[in-house]
Parts: sequence; structure tokens; C-alpha cells
Amino acid sequence: YVPPSSGLLKGLNPEQHAAVTLGQEPALILAGAGSGKTRVLTTRIAWLMSQGLVTPGGVMAVTFTNKAAKEMVTRLSAMLPVNVRGMWIGTFHGLCNRFLRAHWKLAGLPQGFQILDASDTVSAIKRVIKAMKLDEERYVPKQVGWFIAGAKEDGLRPKDIEARDEQSRVQVQIYQAYEDQCQREGVVDFAELMLRTYELLRDNAALREHYQHRFQYLLVDEFQDTNKLQYAWLKMFAPPGRGQGVFAVGDDDQSIYAFRGARVGNMSDFEREYRVKRVVKLEQNYRSFGNILDAANELISRNSHRLGKNLRTEAGPGEPVRVNESASDFAEAQWLLEEAQALHRQGLARQEIAILYRSNAQSRVLESALFNAGVPYRVYGGLRFFERAEVKHALAYLRLIENANDDTSFLRVVNFPARGIGARTIELLQDAARISGRSLYQSVSAVAGKGGSNLAGFVNLVESMRNLTQGLTLREIIEQIIETSGLAEFYRNDKDGAERLENLAELVNAAEAFVTQEGFGKDAVALPVDELAPGAIAEGLPRAVAAAAVTPDAETGEIMSPLAAFLTHASLEAGDNQAQAGQDAIQLMTVHSAKGLEFDAVFITGLEEGLFPHENSMSDADGLEEERRLMYVAITRARQRLYLSFSQTRMLHGQTRYNVKSRFLEELPESALKWLTPRNQGFGSGFAKEYQSAWERGAGLKSVVGAGRVEKPAYGAASATPSFAAAPVPKSMKQAAAEKVGAEHGGLRVG
Ligand code: ATP
Ligand code: MG
Repeated sequence: YVPPSSGLLKGLNPEQHAAVTLGQEPALILAGAGSGKTRVLTTRIAWLMSQGLVTPGGVMAVTFTNKAAKEMVTRLSAMLPVNVRGMWIGTFHGLCNRFLRAHWKLAGLPQGFQILDASDTVSAIKRVIKAMKLDEERYVPKQVGWFIAGAKEDGLRPKDIEARDEQSRVQVQIYQAYEDQCQREGVVDFAELMLRTYELLRDNAALREHYQHRFQYLLVDEFQDTNKLQYAWLKMFAPPGRGQGVFAVGDDDQSIYAFRGARVGNMSDFEREYRVKRVVKLEQNYRSFGNILDAANELISRNSHRLGKNLRTEAGPGEPVRVNESASDFAEAQWLLEEAQALHRQGLARQEIAILYRSNAQSRVLESALFNAGVPYRVYGGLRFFERAEVKHALAYLRLIENANDDTSFLRVVNFPARGIGARTIELLQDAARISGRSLYQSVSAVAGKGGSNLAGFVNLVESMRNLTQGLTLREIIEQIIETSGLAEFYRNDKDGAERLENLAELVNAAEAFVTQEGFGKDAVALPVDELAPGAIAEGLPRAVAAAAVTPDAETGEIMSPLAAFLTHASLEAGDNQAQAGQDAIQLMTVHSAKGLEFDAVFITGLEEGLFPHENSMSDADGLEEERRLMYVAITRARQRLYLSFSQTRMLHGQTRYNVKSRFLEELPESALKWLTPRNQGFGSGFAKEYQSAWERGAGLKSVVGAGRVEKPAYGAASATPSFAAAPVPKSMKQAAAEKVGAEHGGLRVG
């Protein structure tokens, strides 16, 4: 084998080369971290197109996060002189959204349907529970939300669920009522995007046929984290035996979403069902130095049920993995800050330094240390720009312009800024809407009196906004709305309003950046019909179906208006702060959201029993193995330097925890480590000693083993404060854990 000295395939090793240039056949690439899976996948797309084996319209590539999808588009643009914008490259949710925008009618949705983000979903469920006059203590909206999402991810509608007891019977009723409400309001939640797409393809043979014909090559990155519905979804686009080139790439050791229904088993199912002839293994790691890789390999070797593969590197051992113990979380943050600054002074760019944590709650202390020191940083999934109240208010007005029946948005701003519409009026309105089965907006005339005329005033306001914004650019629309709605004036008069006004201005910037990035006005978002449909039409498919695959606006050639696209972007990317993108800033994120990424230097913080491994996962072997995979993901993000850090005490959820260092530290090869603090300081040392007896008294050996900590209420706070409260049903418990740790929803928030 002689690797090509130039061109797309340059520098690939033989296995990578083989994977990139595979023919149109199902393939499974099973390989460890940093072995070039994503690179192979991206290169393959470019290679297929450069060889004329497929047109841009014939490729679908799915990744897990928006950030990964963007990265792929960027890399492809660099490799090929084609317009990759119109290509079907995105997250599962992003592609579903795109599909449903094209087929909204067939999917039974209004054209301007809106997407509920996680918090909108909970408040929508809350409304249902209230309307059903149920007890919120018994049917906790958040938990019902997990139930519904879980059902949808299993492909189950209310009628498909067999309720065994009263509690689940009522939950199914809530699910049904919630579904009706969403349908009435023209909104969909995240899980619905997937399920709706799946069902539409399942039930519509002509449409299915069209897409199966259209997509010749389908590529899925991070396949180990697909859930049941996602796999079924994929099979709708490319069923086994149809002859498409389905290319699944994954690493069983990096499966970290079991709590959200991910099935590693999808990999072996795929191999069997698609009759994969050759599983390609990549064993050379190109990312990390030897010590880092040794640490990763040794750690993960303790897991059972692995598919088995090796990782080696040709880079030398590099720096040792440094381990540091701090007395408190504040001290830890201070140490991190200094160490990161030192790295930066040595020439490392700040965005090449990542601070990872298991739980989102850990970021606050880190953020304040960085903030106080004036060090630029960026939090993924933490800042939630699109989730700030004032931003959501503005978005709600924009949504109403697109779809006035969106009750969630209606309720958010009908009386904000205040227009004399009180709770009583809203209640009357909701009753009227319920009886007539119409949206709140449509029911306004049913309310009499002062409240009624104020409501009518609100409707007039929305109508005039719609008129005023006709033909304006996205930027102008948003500026117009911020003024006309009264939001600007409200915050101008509010003594704490300055920051909120800034955020609204930031929203305008975000929109501007979005328009530029997405190329609105320059290139259409979608490929024109004739680029996609002729083949399908030639095959004798109904013309209407072929054309419906893309229904671009006749004039602009766009599938969505810039406003609709921006609103979608805001829902799907809540958590991604556009404004700071590209800035030279230290990167802060959960381990979950670091998946697939790499940095020159990585700090893994909070390596304490109960935190990492997380206490909710420690009771069963499977849970612990998933935590270990998570640690494996964390370690393998580092290219040159890796730091592991833990702290004797930590304030979390309002309580001080006294910690034992993580068992994962014991599972690493001593030869790869360098302890910056004395190896066995811990509870033998002066600082921690005084707490030791309290620790033993308070927790007893059993819970020390089980949870690795005791809690003391902070400043006399009620000791009943739930910390990582376990919810009653196992599924919810796992989801509660997920919730608590703030695991990023791949492809939803984050980047
Ligand atoms: P993960 O499991 O973490 O997602 P991965 O298997 O997808 O990792 P990549 O991100 O594709 O790995 O590659 C890791 C790094 O190695 C990247 O910086 C990539 O550019 C580099 N790399 C991959 N293959 C080669 C190669 N043949 N020569 C040089 N560098 C390579
Ligand atoms: Mg990858």
C-alpha cells in the first residue's frame, strides 16, 4: 500500500483508505477514540462526490451535535468546490425538522409549526395537567415529560401503551391530552420531530420510495449512541437490502447515552440486519500522546462486554498525566485558572484548553473564577442565550407572527409587557378555547368585558406586527418586534433593564450572524427541485411526491423563510451562544458535550466518588461501566496535556460535600501519572482530618461505600433539600440523573 501523496486521500493509513473508498455497500467502522472515524466519514463524502459517484443531493450524513455537523460542513467546504449548504448534513433533529418543513402538509402540521424546547415542553405539560385538574405533586410535569419523551423514543403513541396501574393510566391520558394540545397549537417537541418523520415515512410508501431512491449514501457518526427510534428512522431511509451505501461509524467504548435510551446493541443489529461483509477496525490513534492513551486504555480495559479493539499511537509518551488535589472547589477553580493561564503563556491558544466536568452545576464556581480574573471563556450548554427570559419573550412575539396558534408563545407574552390582562381573563380564555377546541388566539372574541377588549388589543398588536414586518429582512423584523411589542420600552424603564436590552441587541446580532452563516439571500438553503427530483420522476414516481421532497419558495428557492429558519435554529440550538463563537476563549463543558471534540489541553475536574462516577450510576454494574466509558471519553479528548483534578470539599446544590477521590484515579496506570500534590493526602491530611469523624458518623461505612460522601446542610438549610433525588420509576431515575448532570442532548442544545 502506498498512500497517495496528494489529493483527498493523502495521509490516510491503509485501513482508513479502505474505509473511505468502500463501494456502495453497508459498512460498519468500529474504532476507538481519535482513530480518525469522523475524518474518514467526512473524507468519504468528499471522495464519493469527487469521483462522481453521487451528487450532493444524494448524500445524507447524521452527527450528534450541531457543533459536529457544522464542523463537517466546514471541512467539506474546504475539501470540495461545491455548495455544501444544501446538503443533508445535520443532527437527527435538524434533519427531521428539515424533512417536516418540506412535508408539513403530509405530516399534518401547519406550515409555520414551531419547536418547543425543553423548558417550553415542561410548561406545556404543566398546562395540560392543570386543565385536567390533576395534582401536580403526584403528576410532576417534568417527570411526565420524561415519560412522554421516553414513550416517543420507543415509537409509542398513547394508544400503544398498556397502562398497568392508575399512575401510568393517568400519565397516558396526559400524554394524549398533551398531544392534542400540541396539535392544536401547531407545535412539536424534540421527540416529536423524530417520531413524526418516522411515522410519515412508514405510512407513506411513495414518499419513502422517493427518499430511498434519492439517498444513495447515508453516513452516521457516533452510531453507538443511537436509540431505538433513530435506528428505525434510519431504516426508513435505507432499509437493509435496498442496496444503498449505509456507513455506520462508532465506538462501543464511547456509548454514553444509555440513560436516554441509546442502544449499543444497534451496532450488532446493524451488522446482522444489513449483512455487513466487513467490519473495518481502525487501531491507530492520531490524537493523543502515549501517556494519555495508556491511561485511557488501562481504564477502559476494566469494562466487560466490550466489542474489543486496540489503540496504539506512534507519538511518544509525551507529558505525564498530571493529578491535583485541592482543599475546596474554590481552590480547585483557582488552580485550574492558574494552570490554564500558564499554558496560555506557553503559547497554547485559549480555545485549545478545555475544562470538563461531569455535572453542569460544577461550572458556576469555575465561571466565577475565570470571570473575576478577566479570562475569556465560553460555556457550552450553560449560558443558554436563547433561554434567557427577555430573549424568549422576543422569540415568542416572532413565533406568533409565524404561527398565531402557538399557545405557549401566546401565554408567554399576552401580558408582557403588562396590558391589563389578568389571570382571571386568561382562565376564561383557556376555558373558551378548550370548549371550542381552538387556539387561544382564535378564542379571544369569546371573552367579554374589559379583559376581552384588552385581549382584542393584543391580537391587533400581533396582526399589526405581522403587517409591519412584511418584506423586511430578518434583522429589521427583529428590531421592529422589539420596539412594537413594547419590550424595548419596558426594559428601558426598568432599572435593571440595561443588560436585558443588551441581550436583545445580541439577539439581533445572532440573527445577523445566522443569516450570513446560512447564506440566506446568496445561496438557497435547499437545492433546487430539478437537482433532486429528475431521477425520481424518471423512475416513474408521482411527480407531486418528487416535487414535495423540496418545496422551495417559488421566488427565493428557500425551503423556509429566514425568520422560520432562525426560530428553528433558536429552538434547536438553545445553549449555543453564537455571539462568542470563534473567540479566543477557554472552553467549558460537560463531558457529554465534549464527545467527538479534541483539545490540546484538557482538565477533568471533580474526580470524586459520587460526582464522577456519579452516585446515581454507582449502584449497578452497568451504570458504573457507563461512567467509566464517560471517563474514557473525557481522557481521550486530550492531544498533548491532560490534567485530573479533585477536591476534598465541594458545594453542590446548596450543600457541602466531603469527598473521597474517584475510584477512576486508582484505575489508571501509575507510570503515566504525575501527582502534583502528595499521593495519599486525602483524609489523612490536616485539612480533611477534622471532617473525618463527622464523615464516618454521618454516613456510616455503608453509605460511604455507596455514595462516598456525607452531606451537611449549608448554613442551616433544611437537610431535606433533595440532592440527586431519586424518582420512583427506574427510567425516570436514570433520566433524573441525566437531568441533574446536565448531560447535553446531542443534537439539541449545544454545540
Ligand atoms: P472520536 O472517537 O473521539 O470521535 P475519531 O475516531 O472520530 O475520534 P477524528 O476526530 O476523526 O477521530 O480524528 C482524530 C484526530 O486525528 C484528528 O485531529 C484527525 O485530523 C487526526 N487524524 C485522523 N487520521 C489521520 C491520519 N491518517 N493522519 C494524520 N492525522 C489523522
Ligand atoms: Mg469522531
